[in-house]
Amino acid sequence: MIALRIFSVALPWALTGSICLAQTQAVALPPEPMEKSVVVIGAGISGLTAAYHLHKAGFKVIVLEAGGRVGGRMGTDVVDGVVIDYGAKYLSSAYATLMPLIEELGLRKDIKEVDHRQGLVLRDGKPRKIDPDSPFSSLLSGLLGPRSWLKFGWYVVQTRRSARRIDAADFYAWWAGLDDETAASWYGRRLGTEIADFVISPMLEGLFFQAADEVSRAIPHIFIAFSGKAGKTLVLTQGIGSLPQALARMVEVRLNTPVQRVESDPDHVRVTSGTEIVTAGWAVLAVPASAAGKIYPQADEFERELMASGYSSTIYIAVAMDPGGPKKNALAGASGLLIPQKEQNDIASIALESAVVPGRVLIGDLVHVYLAKNATNQLIGSPDEEIVKRMMPQVEKYLPGVSQRMRFARVYRWKEAIALMPVGKGGDILQYRQSRSSKHRVWLAGDYTAISSGDGAAESGMWAANQILQRGRP
Ligand SMILES: Cc1cc2nc3c(=O)[nH]c(=O)nc-3n(C[C@H](O)[C@H](O)[C@H](O)COP(=O)(O)OP(=O)(O)OC[C@H]3O[C@@H](n4cnc5c(N)ncnc54)[C@H](O)[C@@H]3O)c2cc1C
Repeated sequence: MIALRIFSVALPWALTGSICLAQTQAVALPPEPMEKSVVVIGAGISGLTAAYHLHKAGFKVIVLEAGGRVGGRMGTDVVDGVVIDYGAKYLSSAYATLMPLIEELGLRKDIKEVDHRQGLVLRDGKPRKIDPDSPFSSLLSGLLGPRSWLKFGWYVVQTRRSARRIDAADFYAWWAGLDDETAASWYGRRLGTEIADFVISPMLEGLFFQAADEVSRAIPHIFIAFSGKAGKTLVLTQGIGSLPQALARMVEVRLNTPVQRVESDPDHVRVTSGTEIVTAGWAVLAVPASAAGKIYPQADEFERELMASGYSSTIYIAVAMDPGGPKKNALAGASGLLIPQKEQNDIASIALESAVVPGRVLIGDLVHVYLAKNATNQLIGSPDEEIVKRMMPQVEKYLPGVSQRMRFARVYRWKEAIALMPVGKGGDILQYRQSRSSKHRVWLAGDYTAISSGDGAAESGMWAANQILQRGRP
C-alpha cells in the first residue's frame, strides 16, 4: 500500500480454568466458567484485538495460530538492519480502533509521521503530481483537465461535508446505502472517465490492489468522505509487526496450531487442531474467509455469504540499496508513484522509503515495489530470482542506477492480500451483524467482515469481543 493521504511456542495448556485442551476428546466443564472462556482462531490483528479485549474483561482466552509467528498480514522482517513491513505498512491517526490500542500498549513513542509531500500518478507515461495539501496540484501537473478538476473538487467538498453527519454506529448502514454500482461505472458516469481512470483507479489499486470495476463505488466515496478529517499517515519505527507482537504478549497464544474444525452447540464451542480439542464458551473465528469456509461447516447463510469473499493479490518486492548513485530520479522526492491500469505497466506502485519515512533506513535506502494484477498473476508461482530479474529493469525506468546499488531484494507473495469490496459487500456485513443473536457462539472477525484494512480488521475483532462480552457476563 502506498501512502497517499486522500485518500510460541506450543505451551502445554493446563487443564485448568474454563478452556480445555484435551487429547482426542472434549472435556465437559461447569457451565458458568465456560461462559467466560473464549478460543480465538488466528493471531492476525483481528484475532489479537478480540483476544486482548476479552482478556482485559476477565475472560479466559487462548489464541490458536496456524503459523510460526503472530500478526498474519501485519508483520515485520528485519533484514541486515533494514526494517521491512511485508504486509500492512501504514496507519492513520484517524484509525479509531488501532490508535487507542497503540496508546494503551505504550507504542506511541514509536509512531512516526509519514512525509506526504506530493504523490505522483502516471499519465501518458509521465508522472503527474497530486498533493492532498495543494488543491491545484492535479490541475497544474496535467493529471486532470480543468473540467474534471472542477468537478472532482466540487465532489470532494460535498462528500466531506456529508461525512460530518455520519455517526460511527451507522457506518455499515451508510456503506450499504451507497452500495449500488461499481466504482468504474459510477465515477465514469457521474464525474467522467478521466477522474475514474486517473484518480479513482490508482487510488483503489494503490490502497487495496483492486480494480475500479471490481470495487463498489461506496469505497472511494468512504475514503474521500473521511479524507477531510483523516489525520496523518503514520508508521511504527520498530515495524508495524511490533503492534501484534505487543498484543500477543498480553494473551496466551499457541503458534503452529492449525485449526481443522470449529463446531458449536447451544452452550459450547469445540475447536479441533490435530488430535487436540479445545472446548470453550465462545469462539472468535479470525482467519481469512477461504480458511474460515473450510473449517466452519455449520456456518449459516449470512456467514457463508461473507466467507465467500474474494481477495486481491499482489507481489511486494523490497529492494535494499547501498548509499550513493544517481540522485535524480522520476520520483523526485515525492512520496510515491501510482501507476493506473490504463498505463499497462507491470508495476502498480513504487516508493522510496527515504522520501516517505526519512531516517528509518540508516544506510542506503529501501525501494517498495508492488506488482500490478496481471504481472502478479503471471509471476506468483515463479522463483524469487526470476521475479526480481524481470522487474528490476522496469524499476530502473523510475530509479536509474537501482540495480547497481542493490544490496538485496526480498519478495513477498500475497495471493490473498486484501478482502475485495464488491457491490453488495456493505449490505452483507450489515446483514451478518444484524442477524446475530444470543444463540450464536461463533463470531467471525477479519478484514473480510469489515472495511478491508488493518483498522477494519481490528474493529471487527473488537465488535466480536463486544458481542461475547454482552452475552457472556455471568
Ligand atoms: C501487501 C499488503 C499491504 C497492506 N497495507 C496496508 C496498510 O498500509 N494499512 C492497512 O491498514 N492495511 C493494510 N493491509 C491490510 C491489512 O494488512 C489486513 O487487512 C489485516 O492485517 C488483516 O488482518 P486479519 O486479522 O483480518 O487477517 P490476517 O492478518 O490474515 O490474520 C489471520 C491469521 O489466521 C491464521 N490462520 C489461517 N488459517 C488458520 C487456521 N486454520 N488455524 C489457525 N490459524 C489460522 C493466519 O496464519 C493468520 O495469522 C495490507 C495488506 C497487504 C497484504
